[in-house]
Amino acid sequence: MPHPDSPDPRHDGLVRVRGAREHNLRGVDVDVPRDVLAVFTGVSGSGKSSLAFGTIYAEAQRRYFESVAPYARRLIHQVGAPKVGEISGLPPAVSLQQSRSAPTSRSSVGTVTTLSNSLRMLFSRAGRYPAGAERLDSDAFSPNTAAGACPRCHGIGRVHRTTEALLVPDPGLSIREGAIAAWPGAWQGKNLRDILDALGHDVDRPWRELEQADRDWILFTDEQPVVTVHPVRDADRIQRPYQGTYMSADRYVLKTFADSKSQSLRAKAEKFLESTPCPVCGGARLRAESLAVTFAGRTIAELARLPLSELADALSTPGDASETARVLTDDLRARLATVTELGLGYLALDRPTPTLSAGELQRLRLATQLRSGLFGVVYVLDEPSAGLHPADTESLLTVLDRLKAAGNSVFVVEHHLDVMRHADWLVDVGPLAGEHGGRVLHSGPVAGLRDVPDSATARFLFDDSPAVERHVREPRGWLKVGPVTRHNLRDVTAEFPFGAFTAVTGVSGSGKSTLIGEITEELDGVGRLVVVDQKPIGRTPRSNLATYTGLFDVVRKLFAGTDAAKERGYGVGRFSFNVPGGRCETCQGEGFVSVELLFLPSTYAPCPDCGGARYNPETLQVTYRGRSIAEVLDLTVESATAFFTDAAAAGDDAARPVLRSLRTLLDVGLGYLRLGQPATELSGGEAQRIKLASELQRVRRGHTLYLLDEPTTGLHPADVEVLLRQLHGLVDAGHSVVVVEHDMAVVAGADWVVDLGPGGGDAGGRVVVAGPPRLVAADPDSRTAPYLARLLH
Ligand code: ADP
Ligand code: ADP
Ligand code: ZN
Ligand code: ZN
Repeated sequence: MPHPDSPDPRHDGLVRVRGAREHNLRGVDVDVPRDVLAVFTGVSGSGKSSLAFGTIYAEAQRRYFESVAPYARRLIHQVGAPKVGEISGLPPAVSLQQSRSAPTSRSSVGTVTTLSNSLRMLFSRAGRYPAGAERLDSDAFSPNTAAGACPRCHGIGRVHRTTEALLVPDPGLSIREGAIAAWPGAWQGKNLRDILDALGHDVDRPWRELEQADRDWILFTDEQPVVTVHPVRDADRIQRPYQGTYMSADRYVLKTFADSKSQSLRAKAEKFLESTPCPVCGGARLRAESLAVTFAGRTIAELARLPLSELADALSTPGDASETARVLTDDLRARLATVTELGLGYLALDRPTPTLSAGELQRLRLATQLRSGLFGVVYVLDEPSAGLHPADTESLLTVLDRLKAAGNSVFVVEHHLDVMRHADWLVDVGPLAGEHGGRVLHSGPVAGLRDVPDSATARFLFDDSPAVERHVREPRGWLKVGPVTRHNLRDVTAEFPFGAFTAVTGVSGSGKSTLIGEITEELDGVGRLVVVDQKPIGRTPRSNLATYTGLFDVVRKLFAGTDAAKERGYGVGRFSFNVPGGRCETCQGEGFVSVELLFLPSTYAPCPDCGGARYNPETLQVTYRGRSIAEVLDLTVESATAFFTDAAAAGDDAARPVLRSLRTLLDVGLGYLRLGQPATELSGGEAQRIKLASELQRVRRGHTLYLLDEPTTGLHPADVEVLLRQLHGLVDAGHSVVVVEHDMAVVAGADWVVDLGPGGGDAGGRVVVAGPPRLVAADPDSRTAPYLARLLH
């Protein structure tokens, strides 16, 4: 398979890895040809990412830093090079990892794809301007620049404001009785009341009886008069007169919301605010001058709101268009075609990236790369099929082939069997997770894996026996949802059976998330609703598996109960890394310090003092059954189970609650995670399984409806089996489960399927068919049917 004229003649067309020992890799030697589509497989935690990202990509990155930025040596030294003997034949690498964007980020589909830049250029150079208007710079068409942003809303498109009804929820009260609910409590509130009194306002009449002009002044004035206040004497306290400054409720709320360092004060302030479209730009986010410019009859804000598939049509230029307009629109349309091909034509340029799934974001980045014209690089991708309907997975493969045809190597970590089958080269890592994995079981063309007995992948890849027919459960009742009119759904109703397993299917953008988003609390016949989503369990390295599940509280008690801790007077707080006392103060218990480097994204390096242990040396001297608290946090769920089982067997009953948590984590296939693994290092799928595990460890009373969005993301088919056993167990115990799912093996095993579509965006938004899997598989209008039918022959 090596490319005949590979870019570097000194090499034989192979990336040769020798002695890879990152994480659980056991001195791996492997050769992967360049210029091919190579797929890395294996059960979760087997070490595929440690090999593809942690070793191959990390080494390429390290070399790049060294070549472009000699000053980065210090950083490389701190961050550490990947643990590998040698890698030869390695081209420069580009990684497209799955990560969600920060929730506060102002970026959008347009900025991620850089399509917005081109559109602004088009408006600047070839837009239609009002007579006499000066041409604007392309910056003037961006809401994220001072030149472009609407001066009233600063480019946000919405403004926060208070209203009298929000600030004074009960106008029957007087000011003294607390009419102004938005005021701060305690002394501050009393102070403001006394100032109003001193200013001559009647604080004892019911609010609604005050003059409107006074009410407006009290709530909304920008003035801040200073008056001498003679406080009313409390019986037991004498206060002296003082100078008090008035601040209106509106001003107080907006200031608190914008500036307060206290999360709870900000949250309280937010209750008195409503968000409305900006009165100046009407939500278009730009200055009036910029909104006066049009192209093909529309403003840039109007174009940014169109689905990308329609935007391409809107940009077709009339015959008399200038050369500049033609060149720019041709380029834009070609780039839009790539995005649409990856199944994302339903998105619009102004869609904020925090509302996109990790998979959608990765595919946008992929589409952007495809047009970059780079060649001779290795692209390293993380499960690009995540969130894709099988119909869209076929176009994904076409796109990956095109990257390869342009002269690149494409290395993909994947679980999807169709992607594996399409590979030129397969690297299977295993056989199991963590310390039971870390070996390469097969590296070669796909067919060769058939003869590898240890491989969990082989069992699924070459198994063509029909799915075992499962007894379809009889529903106990029905949950009716709708009619829903939201996003692309128009007056849609759907029914979900109680006491059964339901799969919601459809191409991406068909409306699955929108529909299940309507399943909310207070539903008839549902005792409790549990939504297990893929949102991160925490956004800082301070939260981790152990803290999230509550297991760490018990562990800290065990440490505080040791003789050594009692002698030194250490309580449970001493063993927390979130408060001063026991933690390392250099890194404040994070174990990492952030390293800032000019021009490069900031990176984390292990703390120079504790080396990542998070605690100070005194705390680490206390051990429980031979291990320090840092060593316990470093155990995997699996080894921790052995450790605490021993403790319980030796008579420490206090260790039993830890075992219960650990057991549920093992049940959802997370045995390979370390207890202290920071939330920031967990994938969306792992976060989701941790939430499911915490849910499973609770005592459940009454009927619970579990709602999961693509729970199989990031899971090898072998892990999917484990997860399904848990979910079906819940149904057998009388609960209901609804999953949004693309994995046809899961759909085939469901009791009921709700198929949305037929297409994405405006081409979807209907229930195409609902019924047992066999019925759905036979529906001629369903895009899901042919893929489901393959498993039900
Ligand atoms: P896969 O990609 O096959 O799911 P990984 O390569 O992510 O597996 O993980 C392999 C092993 O390495 C697991 O036991 C995991 O817990 C461990 N591991 C992953 N990331 C880290 C890390 N940053 N530090 C230490 N161990 C890690
Ligand atoms: P699915 O879950 O099937 O991929 P979604 O329910 O996410 O589909 O999306 C259905 C339609 O609603 C798409 O056209 C999508 O662009 C639109 N949509 C989804 N979320 C939002 C949002 N937060 N703002 C605007 N449009 C949205
Ligand atoms: Zn505005
Ligand atoms: Zn430290």
